[in-house]
Amino acid sequence: MPEFDLIVIGGGVSGITAAAYARRAGRNVVLLEAGDRLGGCCHTWHPVADFWLELGAHTAYNSYGALLALNPDTAFGNLIPRAKVGYHFLKAGKPQSPFGRVGFLEAALTLPFGLGKDKAGLDVETWFTRLLGRGNWQRLLAPAFAAVLSQAAGPYPAEWLFKRKQRIKAAPRKFTHAGGLQGWLTELATGLDVRLGQPVQTLSMADEGVRIVLAEGELSAREVVIAAPLDVAAGLLEHIVPELACRLRATVMAEIETHAVVVPAGKVKLPPVAGLIGGDDAYFSAVSRDYLAHPDWRGFAFHFKPGLLDGDARRRKMAAVLGCEPADFAYETAKTNRLPALTPASVALARELRSALADTPVRLVGNYLNGLSLGDAAVYAAQGG
Ligand SMILES: Cc1cc2nc3c(=O)[nH]c(=O)nc-3n(C[C@H](O)[C@H](O)[C@H](O)COP(=O)(O)OP(=O)(O)OC[C@H]3O[C@@H](n4cnc5c(N)ncnc54)[C@H](O)[C@@H]3O)c2cc1C
Repeated sequence: MPEFDLIVIGGGVSGITAAAYARRAGRNVVLLEAGDRLGGCCHTWHPVADFWLELGAHTAYNSYGALLALNPDTAFGNLIPRAKVGYHFLKAGKPQSPFGRVGFLEAALTLPFGLGKDKAGLDVETWFTRLLGRGNWQRLLAPAFAAVLSQAAGPYPAEWLFKRKQRIKAAPRKFTHAGGLQGWLTELATGLDVRLGQPVQTLSMADEGVRIVLAEGELSAREVVIAAPLDVAAGLLEHIVPELACRLRATVMAEIETHAVVVPAGKVKLPPVAGLIGGDDAYFSAVSRDYLAHPDWRGFAFHFKPGLLDGDARRRKMAAVLGCEPADFAYETAKTNRLPALTPASVALARELRSALADTPVRLVGNYLNGLSLGDAAVYAAQGG
């Protein structure tokens, strides 16, 4: 007899959601996470006792219904509305509103031909260029979407960007949590059987389900949900659906060199912003903590394009943007974030994977199967893959 009804591999938003929904359905679930914390791409850094900064995902919306349905407080009192500060470009060292870059005439001329067209099979660049014109794409949309996706946005599947979703009006429109988004996900995982420091090495079919091998020991279950990043999932699927695993592995993982700093509030000249859009500069975005102001500190996570600047050059760049000196940085940290570089072919591959695994005890969930946002990953995971 297998030990568990379900083993979930990976403790990011996808794995937590899949495990929490399965537990609600009365199943005996264990969640195995390779690292020493839950959250995956939701990574909240706590450099000072009462100040934290997001190193990965930073914004959750009230359209993330699958996650909000797991919230322990149905009145959402544990969620903190984000203050209304906007995203800006930087022009001559000063924030410039994205509206300043809209070519209204070009948009008016192209919009009637692009509206209402099907997005299926198109990439974001093709779809938005047809909708608003090439000039608007280059000046505004390409850099703004690159800031959202932390990678070049042109090849991303159009049907996976900005899906129409129902809003849960009782929850704040955009929110965070007292423990940041990692803190929120950890709260949603309360009551789950979570085992940290457990990288799954291999996965194989067994008599009544699946068997997985860990660094120390093995576990069995009737079913497994793989909620690990795409390249890890491809490795685990190697002997189950070899041809599809090989195609999955061919999807590039985009690397983002995140460098975060916390600065005494009085030292920063940049006015309060939600973040900056890097455009042609060396960073995709610089995301601030100004949406939850602190009297003493301001924090910024710069998501740098890979391979352009070394650590010292990044520090000089951050200081120049913030209007301070590198010596003013009271705390700093760096990490590499990884996200799949999705294309319209990813949409078709997701469909093929789902159908090939349908008759097996293996399910796949993750940010490469329905879109990169927390909400899209959670919708898919709530359905169990
Ligand atoms: C810089 C950045 C900013 C972002 N901003 C936003 C935002 O503001 N809003 C938004 O909605 N989304 C945002 N996103 C996207 C979103 O955060 C991710 O797409 C989403 O969190 C991915 O969740 P996941 O659970 O599918 O994968 P992951 O978060 O990658 O989780 C996978 C987990 O699997 C674990 N794992 C790996 N290998 C193994 C193994 N062998 N065994 C067991 N466990 C394993 C990993 O340690 C990890 O914890 C952002 C992402 C980044 C990087």
